Amino acid sequence: MSRSKVGLFAIASASLLSLFVLAPSLYALPPDRLSFPIGSPVAPERMDDRGFLSASALSGLEGVPVAGKAEKDYRVSDLGNRALVLCWHTFLGKEQFDTDFTLTEFAAQLDAIRALGYSFPTVDDFLAGRIRGGRNVIVTIDDGNHSIPAAIDKVLSPRGIVPTLFVYPAVLGTTDFSITDTELAALVARGIPAGAHGYHHLRVTEALYRESPKEFMQEIYKAKDRAEALSRSPILAYAYPYGALSPRTVAEVDKAGYAAGFAVGPGFVFANKDLDRLYELPRLVVLRSAWKDIYALLQRNAAEDGSATGGGQDSLPSNR
Ligand SMILES: [Zn+2]
Repeated sequence: MSRSKVGLFAIASASLLSLFVLAPSLYALPPDRLSFPIGSPVAPERMDDRGFLSASALSGLEGVPVAGKAEKDYRVSDLGNRALVLCWHTFLGKEQFDTDFTLTEFAAQLDAIRALGYSFPTVDDFLAGRIRGGRNVIVTIDDGNHSIPAAIDKVLSPRGIVPTLFVYPAVLGTTDFSITDTELAALVARGIPAGAHGYHHLRVTEALYRESPKEFMQEIYKAKDRAEALSRSPILAYAYPYGALSPRTVAEVDKAGYAAGFAVGPGFVFANKDLDRLYELPRLVVLRSAWKDIYALLQRNAAEDGSATGGGQDSLPSNR
């Protein structure tokens, strides 16, 4: 990595952390996106304390990604096989960072989720349609921080949980922040899937495309090539840095051969791909300041899942 890119990374990292700390709402998507009333740690005004997958939530199909599927009726059983995707970042024990947790805190979060009856499928399980039931959390960890291997060895593996690691290859093995390429390859060889998270972790938006089409493409194509070379595995999932995307980004991520793109916003991913916007999948960033809301959402979902089996509603209104 060139000196200027190292500098860029340092600035990007610092500003990234300050963005998290000062303005977590930057993770919110525009209000016209994915407004499915499931509650969101970044948009509490959208929270629906009546729970979700209730008749009222379903009647409008609000925000359920059904674009282009207007003729289709969905059954509750289709919605029943769903997962929430959560995104952690670092495990350094630095309380001043909203995205950081100690290993003890991380373990307590996972244990609390499991105590609600949740299973922990992987992104690969999702891509293969192997999501069963309504209580699933997909653990993703972004940015490839050096604290990840310990989190895997001390917290995740003992609990039988396999995370998916979204990495941006420009920094792997070149900064103190990151794991090395050898560490990434070793983790992937142990069965921990990797995905791409840009090449330099830029905001892959229309503005970037206008400023530098080359860098825009690099964030998508070179990210895939390098991540595949470093991890020695196919890279099928993309997580948009900062959750930033544009229609052009989505089209290009699709064209580059990724099977899915993860944005940031409230919502579920579904085993039935007709219900998913595959290149704008919702994901919730686990922030220290948002954990209480995320846990409350997980509780409501668990309650809905528990009551869904005896529910009388067997189909959804069509979107006509
Ligand atoms: Zn990131």
